[in-house]
Amino acid sequence: MTDRCNLRCRYCMPIEEFGPGHAFLPRAEILSFEEIERLARIGASLGVRKLRLTGGEPLLRRDLEDLVAMLAAIDGIDEIALTTNGLLLAHHAEALALAGLSRVTVSLDALDPAVFGRMNGTGAKVGRVLAGISAARAFGLPVKANAVVQRGVNEGQVLPLAEWALAEQVTLRFIEFMDVGECNAWDRGQVVGAAEILAMLEGRFELEPLSPAHPGETARRWRHRGREAEIGIIASVSQPFCRDCSRLRLSADGHLFTCLFASHGHDLRPLLRGGAGDDLLRRTLHDLWSARSDRYSEQRGDTHAPKAEMSYLGG
Ligand code: SAM
Ligand code: SF4
Repeated sequence: MTDRCNLRCRYCMPIEEFGPGHAFLPRAEILSFEEIERLARIGASLGVRKLRLTGGEPLLRRDLEDLVAMLAAIDGIDEIALTTNGLLLAHHAEALALAGLSRVTVSLDALDPAVFGRMNGTGAKVGRVLAGISAARAFGLPVKANAVVQRGVNEGQVLPLAEWALAEQVTLRFIEFMDVGECNAWDRGQVVGAAEILAMLEGRFELEPLSPAHPGETARRWRHRGREAEIGIIASVSQPFCRDCSRLRLSADGHLFTCLFASHGHDLRPLLRGGAGDDLLRRTLHDLWSARSDRYSEQRGDTHAPKAEMSYLGG
């Protein structure tokens, strides 16, 4: 939706790289809602069923609910999800729900105000995110919370977050810190692996494994025994899942990426703005997807090309 954000999470947009002098995408290069809708409609005709709006921070895009309504009207689209840092969610939840949004994923890396403030790089308050989650649920939107776990930063928040999610009956996913982009100073030592996260959780809770809800499910999931609440871990570093990946990412400026770890996307804007018909766009999408052979997570370490940033690709 946008490469801009109102946070500067250190693992995604560290302030040293994304400070006041950073050149964000010029407005003219960003796809309009009509251009996004057109690509989504063509995608739907090729079998796309789920859409996810992300960024950057998608709620910085003015009138996002108008886009949601346009996408919800496309034949074949079953689900429209939003990934957000939640800061502006309380304000937009009602309009998004009315426009036809299906669900919300909110990033919540810590409940402790000091840890949360340090991680988000701006001192933004966790209470605003929690208020956003409450508002979304009040307007009937199912909410999932995502927490990236980084060693030496927030592994002490794993159990408090899990306790909170259980008490609130919110689905929670822990995500291994990934080597996306080039500016978050990733090193393997900072990854808290799925096995370690699971050991922490099993030391506190009684968990029952759940089988994948659908093909290409990225999280391993558990249910709290005797309860509805579900918890999961996305082990993209320690247990990569490239082979099952069915995601296609469209950047705010119209580049199509077949892998989160790619260096380059395929620029669709010249076609979109150069008068290409739907048939040509459909063939282009089809051929790009058919030709994909990305296996980055499984080959980690064998490739050295610079990778695109997470705030550009959307996660
Ligand atoms: N701004 C929105 C948000 O934070 O939810 C949407 C965009 S953000 C890039 C999407 C997701 O990517 C967030 O859940 C964020 O925590 C996650 N993310 C960003 N950088 C990451 C990294 N290096 N490793 C793992 N997850 C990351
Ligand atoms: Fe912004 Fe989301 Fe990246 Fe944090 S993770 S800096 S909220 S885009």
